Amino acid sequence: MIEASKCRHCEKVIVPPRRTCPYCGNKTGEMSSVTLGSRGSVLSYTILEMPPDGFERPLVLALIELDQGAVVLCLGQEIDMGSVGIGSAVEVKHMTDGRLSFTLRNEDT
Ligand SMILES: [Zn+2]
Repeated sequence: MIEASKCRHCEKVIVPPRRTCPYCGNKTGEMSSVTLGSRGSVLSYTILEMPPDGFERPLVLALIELDQGAVVLCLGQEIDMGSVGIGSAVEVKHMTDGRLSFTLRNEDT
């Protein structure tokens, strides 16, 4: 599950949760807390052949659009590179350090 905020003014969903809406500038504190499901699909991605220290290569950096409409930046490791593409179905989860990672999801499930 992914924690997020939903703006009551423009109805955009923001991950991670914020008190101010980055879309409409709503600063009145009218943000509701929402919890999103972990399913989404790949909007765009890039493969880092020389990732930062502490990461295995190759590292995939992907923009994932969650089914509820929020877009999150996720890291993918130990992914089958041949099967990652725009529109790939994925499952997003929190890593121990708070970052988001993703794994490929079987279309049938
Ligand atoms: Zn807003």
